[in-house]
Amino acid sequence: MQKIISLKLLPSEAADDSAITKLIASSEAVKTTAVSGYNILRQSIDARSRQTWINLTVQVFIDEPYHHRQILSFYFPDVKNAPKKVIIIGAGPAGLFAALRLIEAGIKPIVLERGKDVRARRRDLARLNKEGEINPESNYCFGEGGAGTYSDGKLYTRSSKRGDINRILNLFVHFGAEEKILYEAHPHIGTNKLPQIITAMRKKINDCGGEFLFEKKVVDLVITNGKISSIRTADGDTLSADAVILATGHSARDIFQLLYSKKVLIEAKPFALGVRVEHPQSLIDTLQYHCPSRNKFLPPASYNLVQQVDGKGVFSFCMCPGGIIAPASTNPGELVVNGWSPSKRNNPYANSGIVVSVEEKDVVKHFNKPGIKNDPLLLMQFQQSVEQKAFNAGGGKFVAPAQRLVDFTQSKLSTSLPDCSYLPGVHPALLKDVLPPFIYTRLQEAFKEFGKKMAGTAGKGYFTNEAVIVATESRTSSPVRIPRDNNTLHHPQVKNLYPCGEGAGYAGGIVSAAMDGERVARYIEAL
Ligand SMILES: Cc1cc2nc3c(=O)[nH]c(=O)nc-3n(C[C@H](O)[C@H](O)[C@H](O)COP(=O)(O)OP(=O)(O)OC[C@H]3O[C@@H](n4cnc5c(N)ncnc54)[C@H](O)[C@@H]3O)c2cc1C
Repeated sequence: MQKIISLKLLPSEAADDSAITKLIASSEAVKTTAVSGYNILRQSIDARSRQTWINLTVQVFIDEPYHHRQILSFYFPDVKNAPKKVIIIGAGPAGLFAALRLIEAGIKPIVLERGKDVRARRRDLARLNKEGEINPESNYCFGEGGAGTYSDGKLYTRSSKRGDINRILNLFVHFGAEEKILYEAHPHIGTNKLPQIITAMRKKINDCGGEFLFEKKVVDLVITNGKISSIRTADGDTLSADAVILATGHSARDIFQLLYSKKVLIEAKPFALGVRVEHPQSLIDTLQYHCPSRNKFLPPASYNLVQQVDGKGVFSFCMCPGGIIAPASTNPGELVVNGWSPSKRNNPYANSGIVVSVEEKDVVKHFNKPGIKNDPLLLMQFQQSVEQKAFNAGGGKFVAPAQRLVDFTQSKLSTSLPDCSYLPGVHPALLKDVLPPFIYTRLQEAFKEFGKKMAGTAGKGYFTNEAVIVATESRTSSPVRIPRDNNTLHHPQVKNLYPCGEGAGYAGGIVSAAMDGERVARYIEAL
């Protein structure tokens, strides 16, 4: 007999195969020997009460042979001499998943990536972290795998309607991710494991006869009769193809500027901007698991916070338990932070972006220049101006301006800062001099409210000067949208240009970018 059942277990039981088998047997009133095996279909943590529980949905096999869970298999044919060719600009999740999907359909992808392969890229990241020197073509956002490679690797998304999440997760497993991502409520890969997976994807694309070209920065799109006739790269190459997928991510400001200069329609898009806050992980564990210290069978705790302040949403973004704050800038003189964690999430810090939504009307008011409305690059310029202020306030070399949390809410300069995971270093500064007032004041209020929501006991809560606030979290999503026709997914003016992924405004995160890459590829297949 096969059956799907739900179990509620102690963390220690959930980590023990024989304990799970015993619970299945007792739930089904059979002997343990009758349980030939089980597959976990869903696993989540319920930490609402003093006792934390693990909820499992399990497929059980009783008195019949066990079959391992079904993992999707994929067939990638040889496309070396395929008649149809598609250029993909950008090798982030959107570009990579588009390339794999095109190969499945017998179409040859030619992937052009401005950055380097994952290995060479690692050296540029080390230089940025240790010496404060940035390579504008190879950093946390640019290079093989895009912003997804050295990201945190959380694989959940709210945009389930836009594509087949299960297929994306199975593809990650196909290329080397652990099977548990298929059933965990909050799947996570980790920065240390993503590069091998991305490399395996590139190898498959190459082995199938696709082309993958590094250090190929696209600098011009030649448009003739409403179509891209050729593409020019910084090293002087000219390439052409049947269709072009533009998957250049939210940080390719030069691409937005190029489209604008060529009068290709783009639009300003709301995004969110704020800071990253870092607490000791042990404090977040205590608050979330309601106990003095974390049970060794539980993962480092995370949180998800949201608060309306003066008509705007202030929310936590990309929370990284056991993580590191990373310099995610792409240009000299601009400071951007983000967060990542290794697969074990075993760093002693918990960091999260805390951001405020930003709309065009806020920025028009902020710049106080009537008449700049309807400028598609307005929000991008605003984003850049805050990043420049943050860089200057840090004093250079990507040292980040920072303030203790309670001091931040009182606009008080911190006389010292707690230890912080951010490798280039932090410098005490008044963040009110970095952040625009409409963001700064809302963050101040929101932190006080978050302190009430995660109050803890004996004064040891979220609202503490043990936490440090680092500026600035500004690349949450794209400040520009590249429109596309709803029925064909190509650009309304340029018939063979397919804007795709986060940079074009159709995704926010690894999984949604991957799904969008697949979606665009499916439309091209159908041509
Ligand atoms: C530190 C960090 C942690 C993150 N953590 C998570 C997480 O845990 N979970 C999650 O879902 N998301 C996370 N993200 C966000 C996630 O990485 C992005 O949402 C995702 O990578 C977007 O995919 P994309 O393919 O649309 O664009 P990108 O990944 O940005 O890829 C765009 C690619 O295009 C290339 N490119 C740009 N311009 C050109 C040009 N002119 N010519 C050629 N190539 C070009 C770039 O080099 C880049 O490789 C994180 C990001 C960072 C930086």
